[in-house]
Amino acid sequence: MQSTFVIVGANLAGGRAAQTLRREGFGGRVVLVGAEPHPPYERPPLSKEVLLGTQSADDLQIADPASWAEHDIELRLGVRARRLLTAEQAIEIDGGERIKADKVLLCTGGRVRRLRVEGHDLAGVHYLRSIDDALAIRRRLVPGARLTVVGSGFVGAEVAAAAHALGCQVTLLEIAQLPLQRVLGPALGKIFAAVHREHGIDLRLGTGVQRILGDGRVRQVVTTDGSIVETDVVVVGIGIDPAVELAGMAGARVGDGILVDEFCATSLDGVYAAGDVANHPNPIVGERVRLEHWQNAQNQAVAAAGSMLGRRQPFAEVPWFWSDQYDLNLQMAGHPLPGDDIVWRGDVDGLNFSAFFLRDGILRAALAVNRPRDVRGAMRLIEWRAEVEPDALRDVGVDLRKVPV
Ligand SMILES: Cc1cc2nc3c(=O)[nH]c(=O)nc-3n(C[C@H](O)[C@H](O)[C@H](O)COP(=O)(O)OP(=O)(O)OC[C@H]3O[C@@H](n4cnc5c(N)ncnc54)[C@H](O)[C@@H]3O)c2cc1C
Repeated sequence: MQSTFVIVGANLAGGRAAQTLRREGFGGRVVLVGAEPHPPYERPPLSKEVLLGTQSADDLQIADPASWAEHDIELRLGVRARRLLTAEQAIEIDGGERIKADKVLLCTGGRVRRLRVEGHDLAGVHYLRSIDDALAIRRRLVPGARLTVVGSGFVGAEVAAAAHALGCQVTLLEIAQLPLQRVLGPALGKIFAAVHREHGIDLRLGTGVQRILGDGRVRQVVTTDGSIVETDVVVVGIGIDPAVELAGMAGARVGDGILVDEFCATSLDGVYAAGDVANHPNPIVGERVRLEHWQNAQNQAVAAAGSMLGRRQPFAEVPWFWSDQYDLNLQMAGHPLPGDDIVWRGDVDGLNFSAFFLRDGILRAALAVNRPRDVRGAMRLIEWRAEVEPDALRDVGVDLRKVPV
């Protein structure tokens, strides 16, 4: 009898895993169960091109809609997996149907963290994770609209930048003392704070939301310092929590995400996890990480599908991420930690620079602003944990792709 592989979560990771199973010749049944009504799609444009109106929802699909059926991948959309029944080797979905599952891959991603303050449920308070969220926000970002963005992480910063380009008046609230401080440290945080302010964003640091006031619709945000921000629309971007419940209820080891080994296997036999939900040991970073990066979701899913097919190929990649804000392209590779030494290259004031993060003389991470080639060059050095001369990093004349490791 042929095997059935069930993938829970029909987005980037789930979709790429299903495609990989077929590409690698798996002839059994592949079922892709997704809670959203949409076939797998790309989320990065949701806070960029979709808000700006340069891409439509139809442009985001990761594959031709007909290709799922052509490859005999059973898409069960708008359906939530409720229980992972390990003893019965089955997945129970909405309505109680049980799907036999010889192997399971959990690609359940994350869900947005919500504000727990008075007025959080007023119309006009939005979160951004799905196509539907992005389209709802887009409708509100008309010229002159007063937008309050809560959280100046990558998604919040991108929303602020897109809204600014659309002619909105933007207030950006950040509870920390600087934007992205926890990830990139204070020196870069100061630079990104200045970028927002130079674009006319009203950036308020060390400031959160006390409550939201309105008459059915949001009208005002009261900040933690007691100020009142007149507001037509609020977008909250304060991070996600990994959707670990299926794995947890079934007895898998979970922590910050579903804990997997280097083969994307969970602590349960025949159950794997990949993408934003998976917490994996990364030998390059030197510790466990749970990444919320497009590249990781895609490539880890491919690796997980390989493991389901019996390949013993460990997954080990340099983390890589990008963000587009205003006229800036940010790319980051590796995993910086607070306290890393930073070496600068390029023109910081002109916003054409890279920052290299060193620990014990070893290159651990790089962040480039409008210098994508620096990051591509640095990735190989990070992978090899190279001891790179700071002067080579500093010197724009040195091609990092050619630095010996
Ligand atoms: C607005 C936005 C902008 C981004 N921009 C960038 C960027 O510029 N660069 C970058 O590198 N990354 C970016 N990312 C991150 C990137 O999109 C994610 O890393 C990627 O989408 C993760 O894919 P995933 O499949 O692991 O998880 P998700 O995309 O979260 O998909 C998980 C899916 O599982 C479904 N699900 C959960 N539980 C169940 C269940 N029990 N039953 C059925 N289905 C279930 C969910 O509904 C969801 O559809 C961005 C993300 C967002 C939201």
